[in-house]
Amino acid sequence: MESEKETSETTIVVKELDPTFCEEVASQPGGQYIRRCFACGTCAAGCPVTEIDEEYNCRRIVRQILFGMRDEVLASPLIWFCMLCYRCYARCPQKVNFTDVMRALRYLAIKGKHAPPDILDKMDEVERFSQMLRHDLVTHTFDGRKEILNKLKKKIDDYGKKHANS
Ligand code: SF4
Ligand code: SF4
Repeated sequence: MESEKETSETTIVVKELDPTFCEEVASQPGGQYIRRCFACGTCAAGCPVTEIDEEYNCRRIVRQILFGMRDEVLASPLIWFCMLCYRCYARCPQKVNFTDVMRALRYLAIKGKHAPPDILDKMDEVERFSQMLRHDLVTHTFDGRKEILNKLKKKIDDYGKKHANS
């Protein structure tokens, strides 16, 4: 059967829908609660990426998964925009755990070779940069502690010397 259903957001071509897609997402770690979504939009309302780019909408991505829009979801650069900040995860009244759904989508996109290569290169760059920041943070924290420990050790030594001579 060939028919089309127009929504306010996108055109759904029924013959291109893949009913196994939702099942595949649900079978991934973290994707198991996808069917709980009742489309309230709370996730999109608090998403920092949606604030910058309205094209990115977690509620819409969940609907696309439930409808079986495999190619639209997995080949879209939008699934790489998520910052994995867990805001939607914390606010969802249905505990859909969208951040984990996003991880599952990225896994499926790479596995199925849907992910655009230029996006993957950019993601590598972002990962390298965040590793550098983490390294600096740990070094800074450790140096700070070293300074405190040295001060403490000096105080103990001074105390020991003072009392050894008295
Ligand atoms: S907040 Fe949860 S239930 Fe509401 S649209 Fe988002 S994923 Fe669905
Ligand atoms: S985890 Fe992703 S989708 Fe959820 S609020 Fe953060 S950026 Fe938005």
